[in-house]
Amino acid sequence: MKPETQCLHAGYTPGNGDPRVVPIVQSTTYTFDSTEHIAALFDMPTEPMYSRFANPTVDAVEKKIAALEGGVAAMCTTSGQAANLLSILNVCSAGDSFISTGTIYGGTFNLFAVTLKRFGIECIFVDQTASREELQKAIKPNTRCVFGETLANPALTVLDIRKMADFAHDNGLPLIIDNTFPTPILCRPIAHGADIVIHSTTKYMDGHAVQGGGVIVDGGTFPWDNGKFPAFTEPDESYHGVCYVRDFGNMAYIIKCRMQLMRDFGCYPSATNAFYLNLGLETLALRMKQYCINALTVAKYLQSRPEVESVSYPGLESDPNHALAQKYLPDGCSGVISFVIKGGRTQAMHFMDALKLASNVVHVADIRTCVLHPASETHRQLSDEQLVAAGINAGMIRFSCGLEHIDDIIADIDQAFAAIQ
Ligand SMILES: *Cc1c(COP(=O)(O)O)cnc(C)c1O
Repeated sequence: MKPETQCLHAGYTPGNGDPRVVPIVQSTTYTFDSTEHIAALFDMPTEPMYSRFANPTVDAVEKKIAALEGGVAAMCTTSGQAANLLSILNVCSAGDSFISTGTIYGGTFNLFAVTLKRFGIECIFVDQTASREELQKAIKPNTRCVFGETLANPALTVLDIRKMADFAHDNGLPLIIDNTFPTPILCRPIAHGADIVIHSTTKYMDGHAVQGGGVIVDGGTFPWDNGKFPAFTEPDESYHGVCYVRDFGNMAYIIKCRMQLMRDFGCYPSATNAFYLNLGLETLALRMKQYCINALTVAKYLQSRPEVESVSYPGLESDPNHALAQKYLPDGCSGVISFVIKGGRTQAMHFMDALKLASNVVHVADIRTCVLHPASETHRQLSDEQLVAAGINAGMIRFSCGLEHIDDIIADIDQAFAAIQ
């Protein structure tokens, strides 16, 4: 099936007389005929038994997203942050380290640089444009994975996924990619060598700002029995001696993640949230195409304005990431633009306050146009030095193009510039 069709049909095939639409199974619990049946599920959880880690509505959405990304299986979480956290904890324990590119979402940066450090997991940040020799210097005997964002939020740098995958694999490590901004409609990282793909489904996948969520997709590609990951090959005493690679083959990563981490941390979405997410996914392909058209038009318009110092949008020919975008985002560069207004922090805030159609929100990738000032909002915990490393200027505005008519979006920008003259 093509992505447009997968958006509508993957993950749920109704049988004779079943509801046409994925039903909301809003039940924490399932009944079974015998204690023996339940006991067997504790050995091998093949059916949902408790809503902390499984639910039929969520399962349908997981299957749809796995199909869209070209993975073998997926697991939803209550937020993108939870997805990022579990994706790392599934391969790193206290005393381990991992590598991440520096240009990543502020929340993820904080999780990696501050919170995981408190739990004894060290993140070594690298410049994603560094040469292979430079990258190699970050590898240590305890390195367990490499992490990056396809299209960084909000720096909008495009990751050379193939280069990072080769680097990770040559060192016996999996590559984990946060693919939130492109969605699988614009980029499928597994096809370029990534092993695990993460999303904040709060953004384009949901698309309507009605519920938060995340997902982890297993590409089924990584050889976990290469000697570096004993937790995948040795018996799990907390699960009756399950050996993930032996028992689950190329689904070892995602099943371990559910059986150990979701069981213990319990950040599983509700059926109703999954239902809403599914509605968003149904129109994802259609929406992503229009976001790309609107954003490219706005990016070109901003470039033509004297009030604007610079515009970052990899779809622009002048953008330093344009060549990588042509390789990894051939159908368009999604809906988010970053631009720097002349006059720095204060002028950026004036401009945002003067917008009327575009709303000032702590969100991005909504169906409605919205703006955010990273330096004073999402990234305010970063020092000036860290801001620069994350590709953020104090006058930078993150402009998330919505699906309003392009003339109305541009008219709003026009009147805001006029208002702050
Ligand atoms: C928003 C975002 C996250 C965090 O997702 P939440 O759903 O807000 O927890 C992670 N990565 C990227 C790229 C994001 O944009």
